[in-house]
Amino acid sequence: MRMLGTGAKAKLPKAKGPRLVVVGGGSSGLTIAKYAKKEYPNFDVVLVEKRDMYSSCFSSNLWYAGVINLEFLADHSFLDAAKNNKYTFFNATVTGLDRTSRKLLTTEGEIDYDYLVLAPGISYDYSRIGVKDAETETALRMTYPGGYVNPTEHVTIKQKVQGFEGGVFLLNTPGGNYRCLPAPYERACMIASYFKKSKIKAKVLLIDHNPDITIKAKGFHAAFSELYKDYIEYKPSMEIKSVDVEKRTIKTEFDSITFDDGAIYPGVRGSTLLEKLGVMDAKNPQREALIDTLKYNVIGDDRVYVTGDSRPHPYSKSANTANTEAKYVAKVLAARAQGKDIEWYSPETICYSLVNASPLEGISVDATYSYDAKTKSFAFSKDTKMFEDRDASKGRGTLSWAKGMYRDMFS
Ligand SMILES: Cc1cc2nc3c(=O)[nH]c(=O)nc-3n(C[C@H](O)[C@H](O)[C@H](O)COP(=O)(O)OP(=O)(O)OC[C@H]3O[C@@H](n4cnc5c(N)ncnc54)[C@H](O)[C@@H]3O)c2cc1C
Repeated sequence: MRMLGTGAKAKLPKAKGPRLVVVGGGSSGLTIAKYAKKEYPNFDVVLVEKRDMYSSCFSSNLWYAGVINLEFLADHSFLDAAKNNKYTFFNATVTGLDRTSRKLLTTEGEIDYDYLVLAPGISYDYSRIGVKDAETETALRMTYPGGYVNPTEHVTIKQKVQGFEGGVFLLNTPGGNYRCLPAPYERACMIASYFKKSKIKAKVLLIDHNPDITIKAKGFHAAFSELYKDYIEYKPSMEIKSVDVEKRTIKTEFDSITFDDGAIYPGVRGSTLLEKLGVMDAKNPQREALIDTLKYNVIGDDRVYVTGDSRPHPYSKSANTANTEAKYVAKVLAARAQGKDIEWYSPETICYSLVNASPLEGISVDATYSYDAKTKSFAFSKDTKMFEDRDASKGRGTLSWAKGMYRDMFS
């Protein structure tokens, strides 16, 4: 299990209490670092993140339509989050793990841990859209990035949208439990709204692997037909089988579709870091974490936990889910460090989607999950509510929800 590291110790002060190392400064990791320290101040918390600057994935669709500026997404400091919440930020990439001696290997040296949380998010899985060779995958990543992992992808997509001169702009919704169920439909609305406002003769072609819009279907269908009749063409039940990057053509089972530009969302899997560290469930089709689904520890190891979008649960892979789940896992860690335990409770998926950029109008969902102990499975609970009539208050709610998330993670 030991893998390549520098061999040297990371330059960190000596731990003043049980050391909790959290990997990944996204919605999950930032929340766990803050709340574990609050729950159990004796923890010496270190957040390890490979990016040196934060920029959120959530709300990035709004940037394409000019609703927000880049500062809205990126004006949040890892250093301030750590200082405000009494933990240490450590800028390094995790490369390996030795669970026997409880050592995490990073590009900046080894870190000893008492407890470890891995919250590394997702990786793309291009094989799910028929791409198996590294050459095509690289060409696709660079030419038509998905825009669901790295901020640099968002910059490329924004420039594509705002520089588009007309024609077909291709988007797609993959199959499986992909990151952020409503995001591909919200993105179609935001890009179409930009084309409409700028009077560009262009159409967003949204190819959906699924038989229908996967969440808030009534609200998105209404937006597509009432606001963007001439700007969005929605094609359900269409699975991408292959892509010809040079000819700008995708093949589905029955059709060959040519486009002028676009962003292609391949399938997703748990972060490849899980596989590297030996905590992936090889039987899981999305290669997510092999963990106890109620307590989040790796099976057989109550010192290592996996949270956020790398989890194997059927929850919506969203920031609000990751944030509320992280508060629960922080309590689990604090309890276990004191020889106690707590009861499971559900995370909450509150998710706003902007469907109109001018005037601002949104729709939303508020969901929790139930657990069936007999089948050991999770489902949407009965009190899940959809708010699908678009209006200005949910438009404003989209922005205030995001501001609340930043406040909760960074202040
Ligand atoms: C376009 C778009 C729109 C969205 N809209 C919404 C929305 O409206 N509402 C909502 O609730 N959610 C939304 N989401 C989803 C939300 O952003 C994610 O579900 C959420 O951020 C997942 O959190 P996470 O912490 O699991 O992963 P991430 O936020 O991806 O964080 C993972 C972190 O781990 C770091 N990392 C990975 N590997 C290593 C390593 N080896 N060493 C060190 N660090 C590492 C990464 O750099 C990253 O910072 C949207 C996402 C996208 C892309």
